[in-house]
Amino acid sequence: MSSAGLDMAPPKRGCEDVRCPFHGHLKVRGKVLVGTIVSLSNKQTVVIQRELLHHVPKYNRYERRRSKVHAHLPPCVEAKEGDIATIAECRPLTKTVSFVVVQTRGPA
Ligand SMILES: [Zn+2]
Repeated sequence: MSSAGLDMAPPKRGCEDVRCPFHGHLKVRGKVLVGTIVSLSNKQTVVIQRELLHHVPKYNRYERRRSKVHAHLPPCVEAKEGDIATIAECRPLTKTVSFVVVQTRGPA
């Protein structure tokens, strides 16, 4: 088992997934994002939503924007809807998935 080059504790459970950064061969590099899990309908994929503040100079205010990112969920990482998930960028795994969930914690 490897730490996947991330500064965080690996999951307690093991898994057999080759697309797991801790127990498989998946390399992570690039961005690390944090967001809320909004969908778990697919067993191995989660949808994460992030809220961003976008500055509008004309009114000198911020508007709230949302973005959804799909991420692969290795079996060793526990997740449920509403959890805060940390996802790390990896190679494209499917057409829309190029992130993998590396850590989750309960709702804030
Ligand atoms: Zn694993």
